[in-house]
Parts: sequence; structure tokens; C-alpha cells
Amino acid sequence: MELNQQRCINHEQRDAVGRCPECKNFFCMECITEYETRILCTACLKKEISQEKAAKRPGINIDPFLQAVQIVFGICFLIASFWIMGQCLQIVLDPEYQSEIKFED
Ligand SMILES: [Zn+2]
Ligand SMILES: [Zn+2]
Repeated sequence: MELNQQRCINHEQRDAVGRCPECKNFFCMECITEYETRILCTACLKKEISQEKAAKRPGINIDPFLQAVQIVFGICFLIASFWIMGQCLQIVLDPEYQSEIKFED
């Protein structure tokens, strides 16, 4: 029985587990990946992804999650600064508070 054992194009010592339908080369487990129900080698996968990116319409690409985080942080910062300002005003304007400090001994 003679098996025509194919070897990985990147690893000569490894048996190939699959063939890339794009470049028709044989690859080992490590060099081949499943991508959207298709089996592709790393090189073809990269090509595929870059093509997909290029196909996408260019536009303002702001992550909505990042935007939400920025808004939440902005609101928190505003609340914090108002609270600090309020505390400062209380100390400055409240005569009882001032007298407390002055005659505390
Ligand atoms: Zn390939
Ligand atoms: Zn390999």
C-alpha cells in the first residue's frame, strides 16, 4: 500500500492535513485555518481579509462602544467637578463651617 503522503509546504517534516483551495498547496494543521466554513492557508487568509477590508466602504469608523465609554466618562467627570466645586463653595461661603475650623481647639 503506497500512500502519496503530502507534506506541508512550510514544514517539510510534517504531514499535510489539508489543501488550500486558493493556492492548491498542501498544509499542516498549524498552517491551515478554517475561515467562514472554508479552509484556507495563512497566506490566502491574509489576502482574503485584506480584500474584505478593501471591499468595505470607507467611512468614519468610530467604535460605538468606545464612543459610549467616552460619553460616560465625560458625564462622570462633569459630576465630579461639580461636586468638588460645591464642596469648595460650601467651605468658602458657609460661616459655620469656617468658624468650626477657626475655633476648633
Ligand atoms: Zn492558500
Ligand atoms: Zn505547516
